[in-house]
Amino acid sequence: MSGRISVAPRDAAEVRAYDIETDVLVVGYGCAGAAAAFEAARAGAQVLVLDRMGGPGGASALSGGEIYLGGGTPIQQACGFDDDPAAMAAFLSAALGPGADPDKITRYSADSVAHFHWLAARGVPFKPTLWDAPAWVPPTDDGLMWLGENSWPFSELAAPAPRGHRPAAHDFGGKLLMDCLAEAARSAGATALFDTRATCLIVADDGAVVGAMARRYGTELAVRARRGVVLTTGGFVDNDAMLAAHAPKLLGHTKVSAGTDDGSGIRMAQAIGAAVRHMATGQVGISLVPGLAARGIVVNGRGQRFVNEDTYPGRIGQAALFGPGMDTWVVLDERAYDEVPQQQRWGVRPTHVAETVEELAELMGVPAAALADTVRRYNASASDGVDPEFAKAARWVRPLTPPLAAIDVRAGVRPPSESGDRRGTGASVFTLGGLHTTLDGAVLDIDGAAIPGLFAAGRAASNLHGEGYISGTSLGDGTFFGRRAGIAAARDT
Ligand SMILES: Cc1cc2nc3c(=O)[nH]c(=O)nc-3n(C[C@H](O)[C@H](O)[C@H](O)COP(=O)(O)OP(=O)(O)OC[C@H]3O[C@@H](n4cnc5c(N)ncnc54)[C@H](O)[C@@H]3O)c2cc1C
Repeated sequence: MSGRISVAPRDAAEVRAYDIETDVLVVGYGCAGAAAAFEAARAGAQVLVLDRMGGPGGASALSGGEIYLGGGTPIQQACGFDDDPAAMAAFLSAALGPGADPDKITRYSADSVAHFHWLAARGVPFKPTLWDAPAWVPPTDDGLMWLGENSWPFSELAAPAPRGHRPAAHDFGGKLLMDCLAEAARSAGATALFDTRATCLIVADDGAVVGAMARRYGTELAVRARRGVVLTTGGFVDNDAMLAAHAPKLLGHTKVSAGTDDGSGIRMAQAIGAAVRHMATGQVGISLVPGLAARGIVVNGRGQRFVNEDTYPGRIGQAALFGPGMDTWVVLDERAYDEVPQQQRWGVRPTHVAETVEELAELMGVPAAALADTVRRYNASASDGVDPEFAKAARWVRPLTPPLAAIDVRAGVRPPSESGDRRGTGASVFTLGGLHTTLDGAVLDIDGAAIPGLFAAGRAASNLHGEGYISGTSLGDGTFFGRRAGIAAARDT
């Protein structure tokens, strides 16, 4: 997708007549847009949501539905876990940093139980049962999962508690989540116009944003927003020009999106002087099965381990992509493979099997002496159930016994619902950087002043994340800060 479509602002004085008028205009109907629209409408504002697609959803509806919540939610309590906002904030600061926003993390953690109740009140169902193993998306409808809180180094930095909350759907719960949020926005009175793409912001003489221009079936529309415009257009992973400029490491990998993350909202705001943050950062879904990785070892192209394999798998992906690269392998034995039920292996099979480590290394194309040394050192302490190099938790540590197998992560994984060959780079990515916003979603300019009438949330904004990512924090901060942006936009004068 081109990054060169003009987003130059329209001078309000040049708009002869408005085709549509509303109090709050929300651009983009994913989780952040739905949350903003609901709260703005509940606050009494007239709300219109535009989406370039034929209905609400965006990446949110395709997602796993995991939402990062904690501090003592009813689901955590029902599963027997004590948690508090300080422990949650300590985990998030470490896992989402460096560069994570401390004020946003503190507010998000302090209000997390309330946000859980908000989601539950919108009809999002959470089952009070725990999925107790590393996973991308558990194959059950368990409502709670670990997202690395019980793995090193986080287990030593903050009292561990599982905080991945999932709508009660088998596998991917994003559609269920979006159905609930869109219905809530509709019921609160928000209206929507689909197949309508916002193209630029309309700006008054004093610099205030007073609306947006849009295109619908080839017709240009001028939309006036009396109180505010909320940009919830998603990130920019589908815009290769923007990736090349800001996040070149993310270029060339599978894009985790609905195909609409062209960065248009970010660019529209940049065109009127908005500041951006953390544009080089991204989530890296690595093509491995977490249950297999935890039971084996993950090595790079030099045959060396580089991370504890029981951590949140996105951290393995980030460590690989931003470290030695995606030439990455899972090495394991037959017992480890067999312990993971077939349904949870997502179609992944060993790419190489051999009787000795040296033979396996040759098949993999990695230095044999290095891989043999890695396995020897791992096995030496694994007999005592410890991992002195990367502190993998004892429950996953056991000597690997030949014959050994290697799985090339570039061979890909295949969720049970999909078929076909997925061979690629081994990484699937989306962007985390975006517009610099306040706690209430006001977009800041490059001098740090709020741009009147302009708000943003979701992946169009930079909220909780620094360089790190944990699953659930995207839907989590999208809905949480989307709500705050909607409330603020509704009262803006
Ligand atoms: C397969 C998959 C699994 C995932 N799993 C998880 C998970 O379990 N937990 C988690 O936290 N995150 C997950 N994510 C990431 C998460 O879904 C997204 O980061 C999040 O949904 C972004 O929300 P959003 O509201 O910012 O954007 P979106 O949900 O993408 O919504 C943006 C909307 O804006 C519209 N739009 C864009 N530009 C314009 C324009 N110019 N004019 C009008 N409309 C426009 C788009 O059509 C889209 O509908 C997953 C993503 C995928 C694809």
